[in-house]
Amino acid sequence: MTENRTRSKMPKVKKIPLRQCIACRELKQKKDMLRIVKNAEGAIFLDFSGKASGRGAYICDSQECIKKLRKQRLINKVFSCEVDDAVYAAIEEEYLGKK
Ligand SMILES: [Zn+2]
Repeated sequence: MTENRTRSKMPKVKKIPLRQCIACRELKQKKDMLRIVKNAEGAIFLDFSGKASGRGAYICDSQECIKKLRKQRLINKVFSCEVDDAVYAAIEEEYLGKK
């Protein structure tokens, strides 16, 4: 471990906004994540375009996190509402279908 890195030597990098995965709580760049959206009509879906309007939550682009999402019913917590298992099933299916 190098503890003596000086701040002045660090190159100036543009700040990359990080998002926290709702499943594993890791911070990652948006491009490595998927967006889950709850729109005004209350529909919850995976937003592959990243452009859907509504409340959004982020999750890693990994099967592990997608599975965890369903197992722990994480969308319920994130959007504080009851989410039908069919919604989770659809998200899982949609995710796996894209791979
Ligand atoms: Zn994750």
